[in-house]
Formats: sequence, structure tokens, C-alpha cells
Amino acid sequence: MYDKHISHIIFKTISEALKPQQEAYVIGGFVRDIFLKRPSKDIDIVTVGSGVELAQKVAHKLGVKKVTVFKNFGTAMFHYQDWEVEFVGARKESYSHDSRKPIVENGTLKDDQLRRDFTINALAISLVKKDWGALVDPFNGLNDLNNKRIVTPTDPEITFSDDPLRMMRAIRFATQIRFNIDPVTFEAIKQQAHRIEIVSMERIIDELNKIMMADVPSIGFKLLYESDILKIIFPDLLNLMGVDTIGKFSHKDNFYHTLQVLDNIAENTQNLWLRWAALLHDIGKPATKKFSPSGGFSFHSHEVVGSKMIPKLFKQLKLPLNEKMKYVQKLVFLHLRPIVLASDIVTDSAVRRLLYEAGDDIDDLMMLAEADITSNNDNKVKRFLNNFKIVRSKLVEIEEKDRVRNWQPPINGEEIIQMFNLAPSKTVGELKDIIKEAILEGIIPNEREEAYHFLVEKAKEKGIEVVYPLTF
Ligand code: ATP
Repeated sequence: MYDKHISHIIFKTISEALKPQQEAYVIGGFVRDIFLKRPSKDIDIVTVGSGVELAQKVAHKLGVKKVTVFKNFGTAMFHYQDWEVEFVGARKESYSHDSRKPIVENGTLKDDQLRRDFTINALAISLVKKDWGALVDPFNGLNDLNNKRIVTPTDPEITFSDDPLRMMRAIRFATQIRFNIDPVTFEAIKQQAHRIEIVSMERIIDELNKIMMADVPSIGFKLLYESDILKIIFPDLLNLMGVDTIGKFSHKDNFYHTLQVLDNIAENTQNLWLRWAALLHDIGKPATKKFSPSGGFSFHSHEVVGSKMIPKLFKQLKLPLNEKMKYVQKLVFLHLRPIVLASDIVTDSAVRRLLYEAGDDIDDLMMLAEADITSNNDNKVKRFLNNFKIVRSKLVEIEEKDRVRNWQPPINGEEIIQMFNLAPSKTVGELKDIIKEAILEGIIPNEREEAYHFLVEKAKEKGIEVVYPLTF
């Protein structure tokens, strides 16, 4: 009996709204999450009969005004307090091979449970008065929950062929809740991997982003690789895999390195886009790989090539082509900078330049660069981490002193045009750069008056005289 989990007024109201003989159950993720102790505010209700009608009746009783009806799916949904409640009529689905669109007929509760993806998602709790709180578990989902097993309620070939997205969902659950995919189920995923092609990228990326947000995202990427799905949905990532050896030279496997960096960053941030930057930080390596008999393997400018690849990848993956993408591009472009800085003597001007280029993303960049240290050589790791500490404290010190993080020129282009009586031209840009470079190099402080005198002097050397001096 699971009545204590359904004590909320919503469940009581549903029960009271039922006609005589009508059945309704809480089903799916909500029930699964009761056992996983993952409190959820998404309730799915299945009724034998019309889900839309029941939703409207319940909403009315609860005083909810707005019910959203999805006619095509025969479902209806409303919000009550911070709960989201979705209603569907129990149904039986059958699919044809080349489409995701099922033929839907009314069905029994068991038919509805059978069309669910995994046994752990097919558990239902009765809201019918006479069986209030009874668990309906025809496919032993509870047993699978206890054994941390992801397995389909029917022949996995059928489940995955009906809706190939379920293969991604299996891997997503395995990653998110750390369950094992049953071997027969996993074998079916391997067999049907190619069918992922009929699924829209929008649905795929939803699942991929959930994998990205798991505590240990590498679990999902390894399963995607082992199942052969990865090479279909994200071949560029797979191109990172492999180790080449020529003579005494070899390089690390950049696929596994990338996954390690992703796991490292996942320990420190819930920012999805920073996680994407970690996943893509070395994506330019395959295209830039070179071998020289004297120096071995190199990947020069992989950060430049990688950041240029990102718009195309985001487009393919149906990720947003907005400031999120730009942020990922920027971090990929800059990802080597902190480590280059930390490998040398940390000069003020190098720190200032980094601050200037990274701006508000400096902390995220530092986090990415630290996550990127995956060497097996403990001494090397220690040395880098120690240098990173120095870089971090310098970043704070220099930002306090020079405020270059969100740098605005102390004398702007408009003022330069006026004081030298110039037309808007290349010269204005060159004069602006003189100030910027001098500040970043530490020749002058980030102050207006100092910048002015320095600029006047440098302009004079170029034969440009002040016409309207600034006053202070
Ligand atoms: P989460 O809430 O963590 O995203 P969830 O799978 O429980 O995961 P939904 O995607 O809203 O959340 O799905 C709710 C329920 O609907 C699932 O528990 C499952 O029973 C069923 N379901 C969802 N997608 C599918 C699918 N593609 N095939 C079969 N059943 C599905």
C-alpha cells in the first residue's frame, strides 16, 4: 500500500471525480521516483476512459481555470500550485516500421503499461476508492527498481523499434539514476542503433542534455559509444577516439580524456553550457593532428579550429545558436590560456590580458582549464594546480587594481574623434588600441588622465596633434 505517497489533495480529488467503474492510476516517473526517493512534482494520470474529460472535471473541482488540451494526443494538462498534472486515457499503441506515429486505440491499464518504455516506468498506483494506494505492477518493475535494472516490459526489439528514442532514454536513465541496462535490452539497442536516425534531433538532444547534466555524464557517453548510437548522432565526438603510436611517440586518447574533463567539471558546476564547453574543448584536435619525427604528435591551434567548428555542431545538434553558443565558442577558444599562463612565470600583463579577453567568464574558464588537467603524472598535476592557485590570486589582485574584467576604454572612440578632430577612420581604431595595449601591458594604469597624456604623446609621434584638449 502506497497511500502515504498519494495523500495530496490532487489525488483525492481525482478519486472523487471518477464515475462509477471508472479507473484511474498515477503512473510512470512519479511512481518510479517515490521508490528512488527523488521527490517529483510531475504527476502522470492514466484513466480507462477519457483523460481530457477527467482532467477538466478535476480542474473544476480544484478551482483551476486553465486546462491545456492536446487533442492529437488525447491528453490534457494543468498546473496546480507547483504541481504539473497530465491526464491520458489508457491506450494501446501499434507502430509501423518507418514512422514514429503510432496507431492508437483505447486500451486497458495493462495495454497502457505495456506501451511504456521500461518496467520501472510502468508502475501504477490505484486511485480507485476500493483499491486506493494499491501498486499495479504486472511487469515486475518493483523488482527491477530494487535490482537497479533497466529492462523493457515487452520484447526489447519491439519496444525500440516502435520508438527508437527509448534507446536514448535507456542510456539516459542508466546515467542519471545509475542503473544497469539489462544485457538482452542492451543487445537490442545495439541491433537497432541505426533506427535512431528516424528520431528528430530535438528529442535526441533533450535526452543528451539530461545525460550531460548527470553527476557522471561519461557513463552515458560510453554507453552511447558501445551501442553505436554515438557515431550516428555525434560522429565528431567519436573522431577524438584512438591512440596513434609512431616509434617512441604516441598521444593520449582524446575521447576518454574529454570524458574525464566532462566528469571533472560536472563535479563543480550545474551550468549545462560549461559542461558543453568541456565536452567540446578538444573537438578541433583530429583536424589539426600532425606528426613530426623530431617532436612527435601535435595539435597546434586546435582551440581555434575547435571554436570555429562549434556553430556547425550546434546547428546539427539543434542546440541554441545564440549567446549560449558564443559562450561555448569563447571558452573553447580560450581553454589553453590559463594553462599556458600557469606553465610559465605568471606576469601581471599576461593575467591582465586573460582577464580582458575572458571578461565575466573568467571563473568558468579557470574551472574548465583546471578540469582539463588529467595527467597521470602526480607531480605534474600538483605543479599545475599550484600554479593555478597563483593565477587565481593574481586574477583577484589585478582585477582589484586595474578593473579590466569588463573593460571600457578610459577614453572612447567618440572622444578621440573630437579631440584630434578626426573623421571616423582606421586611425581612430589605432589610437584606441594604443591605450588598450598600454593598459594591458601595465605601462599606464587604467585611469582616464594618465591614458589621455599617454595618448597625446603617442599621437604626436605619429604626427597627429590635439585640436581640442580634454580637461580634467
Ligand atoms: P524525467 O521526469 O526524469 O524526465 P520521465 O521519463 O519519468 O523522466 P517523462 O519523459 O515525462 O518523464 O515521461 C513520463 C512517463 O511516460 C515515463 O515514466 C514513461 O512511463 C512514459 N514515457 C515517456 N516517454 C516514453 C517513450 N518514449 N516511450 C514509452 N514510454 C514513455
